[in-house]
Amino acid sequence: MVKWTVRIVGIFMVILGGLFWWLMLSGSTAVKSAPGVFDLTDWQSKASAPVEQLPTSIRILEVGRDTAPPFAAQAGRFGAPVAMSYNAVAINYPDRQIIIGGAVDRQTAEGMALSKTEWRFSDAAYTELTSAMIDAEQVLMTHEHLDHVMAIARHPDADALAPNLVLNAPQIEALPLFADGELAPALISLQSGLSGRVETIAPGVVIVPAPGHTPGSQMVFITLQGGAEILLIGDIVWNMGAIQALKTRPVLTQYMVFRPNYEDRAAIKQQVRALHDMMADNPELIVLPAHDREWLIAAAATDGIEFQPAE
Ligand SMILES: [Zn+2]
Ligand SMILES: [Zn+2]
Repeated sequence: MVKWTVRIVGIFMVILGGLFWWLMLSGSTAVKSAPGVFDLTDWQSKASAPVEQLPTSIRILEVGRDTAPPFAAQAGRFGAPVAMSYNAVAINYPDRQIIIGGAVDRQTAEGMALSKTEWRFSDAAYTELTSAMIDAEQVLMTHEHLDHVMAIARHPDADALAPNLVLNAPQIEALPLFADGELAPALISLQSGLSGRVETIAPGVVIVPAPGHTPGSQMVFITLQGGAEILLIGDIVWNMGAIQALKTRPVLTQYMVFRPNYEDRAAIKQQVRALHDMMADNPELIVLPAHDREWLIAAAATDGIEFQPAE
């Protein structure tokens, strides 16, 4: 009897161990090399313009913040929770703005809340964002996920917003998912303003399609007047430790968080490697993920980058 009990417990332990390995650790290492996945030189030439036409600064407008378990953000990472920022980025010209990111509204942020002590949402910052979107020359997003789209899908004045929107085809297709079935008429008839290829949308601002995290995921490469080069990478990783460690999010996050849009993990493994190598070769390039709060705050010490925290 004891022998059988030991055997059954043993089998259980093996199954649990296998499940843990599969969900938390497996299939999460970047590929060994990713030549040709990204081409910084091409973006630099597409971003070039007479210096007075370039943007002067960027401002990260945080509407909310929280923490996430480290093992969900980066496979094999354990220990302290990861600080998460929910924000949009304004690209400032002397006379106008481009807004990247629809951020998250209060209702969604409350639904996603994880930390009782660290969670914040700023209604003032959200109102500031939705009105800046009306005044902006263009409004884009990095990708079609609820924490990047709500200020678009649930914007209080969709009629005024719609003419400013420059979205790609998969992003437009996904918008109804985020509108509780009641997408404003002005947002139903949108035409794609992007070609799906690497393209310049304004002096110093280049859109780089990077499908993988979602079909419509894209990065934004920015050259500022002062010479700083900035790459917004959206959610290719949540925290920069993942790029440093050459890791993706684990399978667990894939199935628990990204419904119904499962990630193309093979593409992410290539992109993480490509970003890792690009950063090693270009240490002056400022790479900004959407959510890594500590990284964003540290980057804001750089000329031309401002971070406005949600309090
Ligand atoms: Zn995402
Ligand atoms: Zn996100």
